[in-house]
Amino acid sequence: MERVSWLCEPANLVGLTAMNQSLQPATTNFLARDHRLLIDGEWVYASSGEHLESIDPATEQTIAQFAAAGPADIDAAVQAARRAFTSGPWGTMGPSARSDLLFRLGAAIDAHSDVLTELEVLDNGMPIATVARHAAPSAARLMRYYGGWPGKLFGETIPSEARTAGHHPPLTYTRREPIGVIGQITPWNYPLGMAVMKLGPALAAGCTVVLKPDEHTPLSALYLGNLIRDCGFPPGVINIVPGTGLSAGVALVEHPDVNKVAFTGSTETGRAIVRAATGNLKRVTLELGGKSPFIVFPDADLDQAVATATRLGFFLQGQNCQCPSRLYIHDKVFDRFIDGITHAAARMKMGPGINPDTEIGPLISAGQRARVAEYVASGRSDGAELRFGGKQPEGDGFFFEPTLFVNTHRDMRIVREEIFGPVLCAQRFSDSDEAIEFANDSDYGLVASVWTRDLGIAHDLAARIQAGVVGINHHGSGDMYAPFGGYKQSGWGREFGAESIDHYLETKTVVVRYR
Ligand code: NAD
Repeated sequence: MERVSWLCEPANLVGLTAMNQSLQPATTNFLARDHRLLIDGEWVYASSGEHLESIDPATEQTIAQFAAAGPADIDAAVQAARRAFTSGPWGTMGPSARSDLLFRLGAAIDAHSDVLTELEVLDNGMPIATVARHAAPSAARLMRYYGGWPGKLFGETIPSEARTAGHHPPLTYTRREPIGVIGQITPWNYPLGMAVMKLGPALAAGCTVVLKPDEHTPLSALYLGNLIRDCGFPPGVINIVPGTGLSAGVALVEHPDVNKVAFTGSTETGRAIVRAATGNLKRVTLELGGKSPFIVFPDADLDQAVATATRLGFFLQGQNCQCPSRLYIHDKVFDRFIDGITHAAARMKMGPGINPDTEIGPLISAGQRARVAEYVASGRSDGAELRFGGKQPEGDGFFFEPTLFVNTHRDMRIVREEIFGPVLCAQRFSDSDEAIEFANDSDYGLVASVWTRDLGIAHDLAARIQAGVVGINHHGSGDMYAPFGGYKQSGWGREFGAESIDHYLETKTVVVRYR
């Protein structure tokens, strides 16, 4: 097997030249603005006067400052959302008017796609060509998808018994009603998509929202706030309040007038949120971490499997909950597969996300890079063999090389824990039973994939793997029509599809005696 030393390949370092290319004037103007909190339809300063900085992870430069919400701002936002829910026009608006607003917001996201794309790149570091350029069109499609739901949410008529002789059975039916005020907390890894994924089902169901984007990446959500105002959403229906997890996030989760919290982020924070939500027993849905198995049998289309493992393994620099971070490869094809991924990864270009040639951008922060480096050190000291990568390039930006460990073992931390960086672990297996044993030996259960042409193996494993999504010759969530979420400690509830809206509705049973 050939070894590839990432930094010995100068052609892979794309360089900063493209950083000089001019941004859209609208992006530059937006960055220079005074970024405030959207509460009750108005842009307001944080009551503490505090600000946070947004850093471009490719250059480590500050690109914007924004008001940091604290408990008093969260309280004001929750009160605005409550007023909008109980007494504003939103509560009495018919389904088609709600649909119209969601469609209008989808169209506005499309119309502002170029600016939103640049904001995602600068705030998050995601490569423009392979990731960011899809973010706004996908978000617009998703918003339109949810725009189709308001008129399709209804209850049932249920058969009833006449409990007293001589009486008619009552008419029993159900109503599906919005839960109320929703606190939504999103992570930094896919900011615009996460915001729309959360807002869409809540608004379709008729709820009102306080959205707290991650403090590393608030810009696309703040830009979305302008579009929301322009589209004519009534004040208070959507409030956008970036701030830290420990201040704004905790205040939102503990707030006694929030009916439900919808969270995407780490499993550790998910646990803290469940504990904090007990005060008023608010509903909680959680999209948490993953450690996804990618299982390759000898009859698979190996080229396709290698290409997918490389692309998705290093997609968003591995800061992706669906990342196929545990590669289980059949003995017979292990060496060929590892050679393939080694060569494919060696061709990937690392650089700032704004450069259209970049395939691997920076990690989100110095802290995240230090965390990844610590995992790599633990893999080495636990005896895994480093096949390529493992280092951080010199110079500015939070870059880290795509990394592959082979001969890993189920007890190693790099195999058991979510790294959320560009680090993959590969291990051999000899038959289906062993593959299943390895795949299910995890606290997580978000996504898994099986690569084979044998229908028997494919369906057998699809049934036995403990994960919310199982791909056959495919890795990752399907599309917005199909439910997505985790088994075990990967979460509670589902995003996308009809199930995502169920989580924003209460069912009320009405029993009517009329004779
Ligand atoms: P994180 O849990 O640190 O932060 C996520 C959000 O929670 C941020 O907005 C943060 O400010 C807030 N937060 C932090 N502590 C809080 C607290 N005590 N109370 C309330 N809010 C708090 O996660 P992260 O590191 O930003 O994101 C990466 C994690 O997200 C990974 O584990 C990844 O797998 C997961 N993720 C999951 C999915 C999915 O759909 N399952 C998608 C993307 C990311």
